[in-house]
Amino acid sequence: MIWGLVGASNIAGQYMIAAIRAQAGGSAKWVVSGSNARAQDFAGKYGIEASTTDIDTMLSDPEVESVYISSTNEKHYDQACRAIAAGKKVLCEKPLAMSLDDAVDMVGRASEAGTLFATNHHLRNAGSHLAIRELIASGAIGSVQSVRVFHAVPLPEKLQAWRVNDPVAGGGVVLDIVVHDADTIRFHLAEDPVEVVALTRSAGLGQGVEDSVMSAWSMESGAQVQVHASFTHRYAETGIEIYGSKGSIRGRGVMTQRPVGAIELMTDDGSKSIDFDIHDLYTRAVSLFDAAARGEGDPAASGIDGVKSLAVALAVLQAADRGNRVVVDYGGL
Ligand code: NDP
Repeated sequence: MIWGLVGASNIAGQYMIAAIRAQAGGSAKWVVSGSNARAQDFAGKYGIEASTTDIDTMLSDPEVESVYISSTNEKHYDQACRAIAAGKKVLCEKPLAMSLDDAVDMVGRASEAGTLFATNHHLRNAGSHLAIRELIASGAIGSVQSVRVFHAVPLPEKLQAWRVNDPVAGGGVVLDIVVHDADTIRFHLAEDPVEVVALTRSAGLGQGVEDSVMSAWSMESGAQVQVHASFTHRYAETGIEIYGSKGSIRGRGVMTQRPVGAIELMTDDGSKSIDFDIHDLYTRAVSLFDAAARGEGDPAASGIDGVKSLAVALAVLQAADRGNRVVVDYGGL
């Protein structure tokens, strides 16, 4: 599959170009950037054939079948709509858009056009999370009562920029990390969060945006979820703990882009370490996208998954802002 990349971004350079090239016939032909110099630098650095500042120039190339959007968040909506209108398949970064209406609209446009549209939620591609999901679905821990997510990290300096100081670009830890947590919870529990409460703060890094959040959610089944996400925590281990009526699962170091971590299952039979497949998360995401483009199965995370993860993140922000419980609005989906 031949791709056009929209955004001369870190995520494209660090993970996605390699993931595209790992597929049979996979090629990143174009990069589109807001800056000509950045587009050319990026193309030279990663061996990309063509670069432009005009997305429509890239979209008019009939060889380009799919578009990967990893610009800053406020640009996703317009770029995705253009790509869909041009008949391209779209893999869009999270959060899909800055508002629920825009996210619902882009996914609706793709659906009307009969175009494949997917969201790049990497965690559901991790061997660790696939194994956790399988344990829950197999009934190994009975019915889930509660989940705790530990996703407080130190944000590397090279990733700070707009993430810590630009609300217009969609900065802040909630739109950056809580969207992934929401998707992961939905993936594991196969149900949606219904209601949330939250407290945010800026603990030194965030300027005009929050860099830390603690929130609690109730699920359709009544299960309770606790999510702690931050950009400012050094030496904090990430993880997820799932407590069921018959046992518990502890995933250590698994809220990450890398295929690492450890899983432990605890039941009346004792404690057991769970093996899982080690593979690159992004390569699996692109592989499933490619297969879906051939009519074989679904992408790892659909457009609707992207709308729902954004809906939960927006509810968290609203709950923190208002200081009360917020019912998650999924925009009718
Ligand atoms: P970057 O900051 O690396 O890139 C985002 C945009 O910033 C680029 O598209 C580029 O704009 C601009 N930019 C890059 N470098 C510079 C620079 N030196 N000076 C000025 N502008 C610059 O962002 P990320 O790669 O971290 O994130 C991009 C998107 O991907 C976001 O939506 C984010 O939420 C998402 N993401 C998803 C991850 C996942 O695992 N699914 C992980 C990380 C990010 P231009 O296009 O105009 O060149």
